[in-house]
Amino acid sequence: MPAIIDKIADALHLTKHSHNDSAPDAESPSTSAPQPAFDHNKVTVLFVLGGPGAGKGTQCANLVKDFDFCHLSAGDLLRAEQNREGSEYGEMIRRYIREGQIVPMEVTVKLLENAMRAALSENRPGEGWAAGKGRFLVDGFPRKMDQALKFDEDVCKSSLVLFFTTTEEEMLKRLLERAKTSGREDDNEESIRKRFRVYKEQTMPVIEHYSKQGKVATIDATASIEEVHEKAKAVVAQLFSGDVSRNVTA
Ligand code: UDP
Ligand code: MG
Repeated sequence: MPAIIDKIADALHLTKHSHNDSAPDAESPSTSAPQPAFDHNKVTVLFVLGGPGAGKGTQCANLVKDFDFCHLSAGDLLRAEQNREGSEYGEMIRRYIREGQIVPMEVTVKLLENAMRAALSENRPGEGWAAGKGRFLVDGFPRKMDQALKFDEDVCKSSLVLFFTTTEEEMLKRLLERAKTSGREDDNEESIRKRFRVYKEQTMPVIEHYSKQGKVATIDATASIEEVHEKAKAVVAQLFSGDVSRNVTA
């Protein structure tokens, strides 16, 4: 495991694990490249992307009920770390989030890996487990190419990207509505504009990267929550019933 990750894990008081140290991890280590922490044949990871306010969190909550996913929101994990007493990274995370910038990937990837490991160690059906396999919805991640490459290589190769799309106008409307109750420091018009820019400049290349691999399911998220849910559910059902080996649009 790269030294920088260990260093950050120490600073964050996160559990450190060497790769391949517990089921359902990657197959026996080869002599060449290090394996990811989790084997994608045993652990299914779906990335959930879309602009701020596209409805990722809402739709993830629905999909959890349908498919027994464990839902991990990168933003929520970062906010929890930000608020954790004694966190050395709290102020840094706060600054990045307020500016709509992407927190250095080592922190986010490590938080996700630890959360996955904790969920899998419990091995309880219905909580991230179905048919003997781990299932994760990783929401709001990867937002930048470096995170995508790092996660696929070190943590677990992702199976599919659920990509929720709608107009900026619609997203702004939803975020300003959410701002009334969310208490989030970045749900204000200035931060929202910055988040839109970062999304276009840094997250869209991630979508293009996975499109080239035929791993993107694009879902129009403009309709009602129920209609979008039905579309997302159909795409995920298709993934679990066979192989989604090309990009799909719903
Ligand atoms: N964030 C980050 N890295 C990530 C995910 C989120 O740095 O991998 C930060 C980033 O500053 C982002 C903020 O967390 O703007 C809020 O993310 P969240 O996913 O909660 O926002 P949403 O898309 O749900 O509005
Ligand atoms: Mg969210």
